[in-house]
Amino acid sequence: MMMAAGLHVGARAQGTTTAALTNGAGFYRFKLGDFTCMVISDGQSTGGNTFPNWGANPGRQEEFGKVLQANFIPIEPFTNNFNPMVIDTGKNKVLIDTGRGGTNGQLLQNLRNAGLTPADIDTVFITHGHGDHIGGMTDAAGASVFANAKLVMGQQEYDFWASQNNAGFNRNIVPFKDRFTFVKDGDEIVPGLTAVHTPGHTAGHMAVLATSGTNKLMHFGDAGGHFLLSLMFPDHYLGFDSNPENATATRKKIFEMAANERMMVVGYHYAWPGVGNIRKKDAAYEFVPTFFRF
Ligand SMILES: [Zn+2]
Repeated sequence: MMMAAGLHVGARAQGTTTAALTNGAGFYRFKLGDFTCMVISDGQSTGGNTFPNWGANPGRQEEFGKVLQANFIPIEPFTNNFNPMVIDTGKNKVLIDTGRGGTNGQLLQNLRNAGLTPADIDTVFITHGHGDHIGGMTDAAGASVFANAKLVMGQQEYDFWASQNNAGFNRNIVPFKDRFTFVKDGDEIVPGLTAVHTPGHTAGHMAVLATSGTNKLMHFGDAGGHFLLSLMFPDHYLGFDSNPENATATRKKIFEMAANERMMVVGYHYAWPGVGNIRKKDAAYEFVPTFFRF
């Protein structure tokens, strides 16, 4: 067990249990202007420690750990969320990221719970090439799960991973290259949705900005980092961030934009359902979870 010095880790936070209890149906649906937005959970994983993966800064982990404790979040075991999203614009049904796939992935079950099948999805947008975002592209036989969908991702992100000879990318993305539309910053994904270049987590990571009338929402993908630490500490970065300097610069930019424009945000790894707003707090920011409506 790797643990920052001086932290009390013996007791689990109240409300957490060793055995998983079943809750809800794995989706959260709400309106954004004329659009219907659905966060579709790919499930959670519990295990390991928060640090260093979720706060890699050397020498800062005791400080970060105290913040988690003050917010009643256990340092270990760390529970991770996976929050893909469907945005139904009335004309298109766009899935943002596909979850882990395989035996862990729960996206398809929860999509069905929300009344949708993979065949209903006409566009899949991939924020970046990590396995927890592209694993759900294929089934066990390697066939395309979203067979009717136009596929969209950033050109720079595709080029980077295609040069890496990465097994997951070679399996889940490369075989469908001809179906992909490759985009750059500001390009339209479908009417109402644009790609936002948000580098640092990966070289060509892209978030999605959805606009309906005066209403805006940004799905951060992994550019949003951790829902407490990345907002409270402007220099905080993840062990998964390929370029910490770019990742923190991107976070500052999108948090500032979200706060100034009062837009809704979704974090792919934020605490379920990962939907809320960003406001400024002192010299940094704060994530305010949405008011959950049944
Ligand atoms: Zn991720």
